[in-house]
Amino acid sequence: MNHWIVLSCLLVSLFSSPSRALATTDGLYQVTEPHPEEVRKILPFIQNYRQEGRLWLVSLKSPKTPSWVFHFLRIYDPKKMLHYTPQLKTLPTHLPTIDPAYLAMIKTTHLQNTVGKLASYKNRAAGTPENQSAQKWIASELQAMGYEVTQDCYSPNTCSVIAEKKGSNTTGGVILVEGHFDSVGKDYAGADDNASGTASTIEIARILKNYPNQNTLRFFLTNGEEIGLLGATHYSKVLAQSGHIKDLKLVINMDMVGYNSNGIVELETNAEYDSLAKWFAALTEKYTSLKSKITLGAWGSDHVPFLDLHVPTLLTIEDWSTKSRCYHLECDKAETMNFTYATEITRLNAAAVLTEDASP
Ligand SMILES: [Zn+2]
Repeated sequence: MNHWIVLSCLLVSLFSSPSRALATTDGLYQVTEPHPEEVRKILPFIQNYRQEGRLWLVSLKSPKTPSWVFHFLRIYDPKKMLHYTPQLKTLPTHLPTIDPAYLAMIKTTHLQNTVGKLASYKNRAAGTPENQSAQKWIASELQAMGYEVTQDCYSPNTCSVIAEKKGSNTTGGVILVEGHFDSVGKDYAGADDNASGTASTIEIARILKNYPNQNTLRFFLTNGEEIGLLGATHYSKVLAQSGHIKDLKLVINMDMVGYNSNGIVELETNAEYDSLAKWFAALTEKYTSLKSKITLGAWGSDHVPFLDLHVPTLLTIEDWSTKSRCYHLECDKAETMNFTYATEITRLNAAAVLTEDASP
């Protein structure tokens, strides 16, 4: 079935159902291709409707749009996407108290060292020998902290790393923090994307290694994100099949958290988790010097497979309108990163884990 057939079927169902079709969003699409080169290719065919961080909504210039363009678009879905920024006036005000001593343990130098180590592997593309070396190094770091470390492999040589510490409350759930450690495969690169999120995940594991958690803490360093969210998709399906997906209380994804000039962190999830995004916005205000921007309409990273299974999941990512100029390029090195900013996002997500764990 080609794109035209799929599209016409979807359009028929969209327009024949008056309850679903909003007058203002008829014929809208979300752009789901981030790379500037691809964006240039589709520009002649699309008309800007609204761009708010990573949520970019467009309409088509002509009904005669070539089918390949639809590879980079998906039909506006009000169940997932919101074409306006949710009001930030209604942030939750009563957040449980957490011990600030844990947040004070976060060290910028640790993030720098981990990013340096990961970028010292020549090529971290999923399945390469150096990707496997990076995987073993991550596993050994988490093991040395006292976590129970396992792996989840979607092919014989391509595995994600899982580190876990059981919670004291036997009826508690699981709080999962994730970040992908594979890269697009440029030599000695992939610092911001996504050694940064990997380093932040490992740092949160480190500061919480002796924290008396009630819920189970799980750190998930995913592999194969860059070639189709393969590691996160595989693991989320494993959990769904065993019925353990329902144990997940909260999933936090960190992807590209190290390049910034305006102090804004983007909080991305689907419209059904609007209140989760506001909860994160309140935490951003309380525990960091950053400003937050909420975008609803998740795409393009490891939060998506969990959201597809209706797990409360949120992506923290650098402000997309000012994202790294070295995105997916060989110049994505530690030197271009803003480690103060990466430290603030690490604080935000560590505070989220602690607050969730302290919540009834
Ligand atoms: Zn990435």
